[in-house]
Amino acid sequence: RAALEKILRRRSLQMRDQQTNWQESPEGRRMLEFRRSLPAYKEKGAILSAISNNQVIIISGETGCGKTTQIPQFILESEIDSVRGALCNVICTQPRRISAMSVSERVASERGEKLGESVGYKVRLEGMKGRDTHLLFCTTGILLRKLLADRNLKGITHIIVDEIHERGMNEDFLLIVLKDLLPRRPELRLILMSATLDAELFSSYFGGAPTINIPGFTYPVRTHFLENILEMAGYKLTPSNQIDDYGQERVWKLNKQTPRKRKSQIASAVEDAVRVADFKDYSPQTQESLSCWNPDCVGFNLIEYILYNICENERPGAVLVFMTGWEDISFLKDKLLTNPVLGDPSRVLLLTCHGSMASSEQSLIFQEPEDGAKETSYDALNNTPCLLPTWISKVSARQRRGRAGRVQPGECFHLYPKCVYDTFAEYQLPEILRTPLQSLCLQIKSLKLGSISEFLSRALQSPELRAVQNAIEYLKVIGALDENENLTDLGRYLTMLPMEPKLGKMLILGAIFNCLDPISTVAAGLSVRDPFLTPLDKKDLAEAAKSEFSCHYSDHLTLVKAYEGWKDAEMDHAEYEYCWKNFLSAQSMKAIDALRQEFFSLLKDVGLIDSNMTSCNAWSHDVHLIRAVICYGLYPGICSVMHNEKSYSLKTMEDGQVLLYSNSVNARESKIPYPWLVFNEKIKVNSIFLRDSTAVSDSVLLLFGGSISKGGTDGHLKMLGGYLEFFMRPAVADLYQIIRRELDDLIQI
Ligand code: ADP
Ligand code: MG
Repeated sequence: RAALEKILRRRSLQMRDQQTNWQESPEGRRMLEFRRSLPAYKEKGAILSAISNNQVIIISGETGCGKTTQIPQFILESEIDSVRGALCNVICTQPRRISAMSVSERVASERGEKLGESVGYKVRLEGMKGRDTHLLFCTTGILLRKLLADRNLKGITHIIVDEIHERGMNEDFLLIVLKDLLPRRPELRLILMSATLDAELFSSYFGGAPTINIPGFTYPVRTHFLENILEMAGYKLTPSNQIDDYGQERVWKLNKQTPRKRKSQIASAVEDAVRVADFKDYSPQTQESLSCWNPDCVGFNLIEYILYNICENERPGAVLVFMTGWEDISFLKDKLLTNPVLGDPSRVLLLTCHGSMASSEQSLIFQEPEDGAKETSYDALNNTPCLLPTWISKVSARQRRGRAGRVQPGECFHLYPKCVYDTFAEYQLPEILRTPLQSLCLQIKSLKLGSISEFLSRALQSPELRAVQNAIEYLKVIGALDENENLTDLGRYLTMLPMEPKLGKMLILGAIFNCLDPISTVAAGLSVRDPFLTPLDKKDLAEAAKSEFSCHYSDHLTLVKAYEGWKDAEMDHAEYEYCWKNFLSAQSMKAIDALRQEFFSLLKDVGLIDSNMTSCNAWSHDVHLIRAVICYGLYPGICSVMHNEKSYSLKTMEDGQVLLYSNSVNARESKIPYPWLVFNEKIKVNSIFLRDSTAVSDSVLLLFGGSISKGGTDGHLKMLGGYLEFFMRPAVADLYQIIRRELDDLIQI
């Protein structure tokens, strides 16, 4: 023991000498001079003394003030100065891989070292960390996994959780676990860092922990909203109440102020702007649906127009474009490459950045461009598994705006009108409250965080307990959790697919049974807004158009047929005419198309289909099989079809009589030659209505209702058995029990 102490002391002395040598070298001095200019440096003393006097502290400050690069360094340096260098282990978590990597590199160079000496990083599948690493930047996920292996984090002296204002799910999870750990490790220090101040919430969660605010500085940033941008182009956007051909209220009207002043390039940009502005959800009456908008409305021409003008008229510098996702980023890049100015590599360097890109590619955006080239990069930091893009909050709009003023005065172009900005939420809801509960429960289980409801009850902000319990019950019924709330094989696959479990189930079985083409369309259709439009004044025409696609007593298969037609039309570049003629939403069809791609790549990642997808569609034309896979996904959304002389009625076990939504293809049938309907959603307006449904036979329900994996069978055996008996089909129920047992022995995912 004494020998060990001696070694550690010698090592600590070496570290101190090395640090002093660097700080006194010419480059070291220059670096220190730069660091001293950062606002965080002025708070160094206050921060270090707060850390030594408190187990938990909260630090906030504007982006760029030096939180991430300086504060972990202050701690490391002060430990080294007090000859405790070899004893300290500082971990700083980042929500994103790219920041863990780029920040560690920056900090190493500020210390005059190479990465992997005293400073290192670790992200999933990659890392740079050596025997002498005492400051480690890692993703939040990595620290959570580390906690699985050692719940006391032996040897770690300081934990810094960065960017907590983002309220990512992993960060919220981590705080619950750390709060638990603090009393067991009284020497451990926890530092929470945040860009925007919501310090009260965090402080009270940690029993009134002290907060330090770093006063910030940024250059002024001029802000333009959509109406200002259009005005610059000579157009004026004014509110109006026109009704368009589809009976939708148009809120915006464009008046040409200066006739034919500009080139045709402006025309398409303006056309785009009108499409953005005319998007019906901009109406204040439908504010609730403001939370979803369609990528179609992003307005690529408008972005091109603005970028072109910046490049022609502005001083050198960088432009940062925030997009909703990878699809849009790559589409825009391809579009810009065809522009004579923006696509000219001697004038503009076009770079892309997205969480799904390789880290080496992502880090290109941090390199200095060669002389003269203006730099453009696209940034989709929002990498949450969210199927529909949503509006950002005012706080993130402000933060993105702030990035334009880091090194010189800047400009910010919002591609939406001011009145839309005014409807944004102040803060974004924390991810833990935004994530669908079923997925959240599966996530907790995959991280082995114990009992779901007990764990969630200790969160900074927890979802409602009743709702959590319902979600757990549902996961048991569909076979993702067993009776003891443990993940089944199916559940483990579902945790790897960031989507609603019912969609995940459908896709998994679609992959196993080689009918992914139609099944991915069905799953995508369930995730976007109904593509079948029914404008009030053209209801009959719209219904007639839909019934042209009607087939197999299934709304889901009806959509598949409509999508296949769209795909053909798209090949002939006639998809807009196709949508117009058939009363289909072009935006929804495009979104379905994009989602299908996303599903395929997710299934490839999980290993359920091979990369050239040779066999995943061999059975795509077997309607009965597809019906069965839909049933597997939508169960327990099931109702019984009771026929009488003239027509039929529908019943579910929980609600009794239910009705079909009027635009369901099954609502127009006087007879449904099947005993069951499976459905996605119930809506309560006076009566209970079922939205989309697919008719299924006894045998399909028997074999595919619930899980076909072994775990958790008892629960849904009882439930499905109950269904069959309730609807007086006891003979079928008996048969079911027998088949089921046989089947469970045969099939396992
Ligand atoms: P915060 O975490 O508060 O947003 P950072 O610690 O990331 O701030 O950055 C502080 C400052 O350090 C930045 O404003 C910038 O001037 C400088 N900086 C950060 N990273 C780099 C880098 N890779 N190269 C050069 N300067 C950098
Ligand atoms: Mg930071």
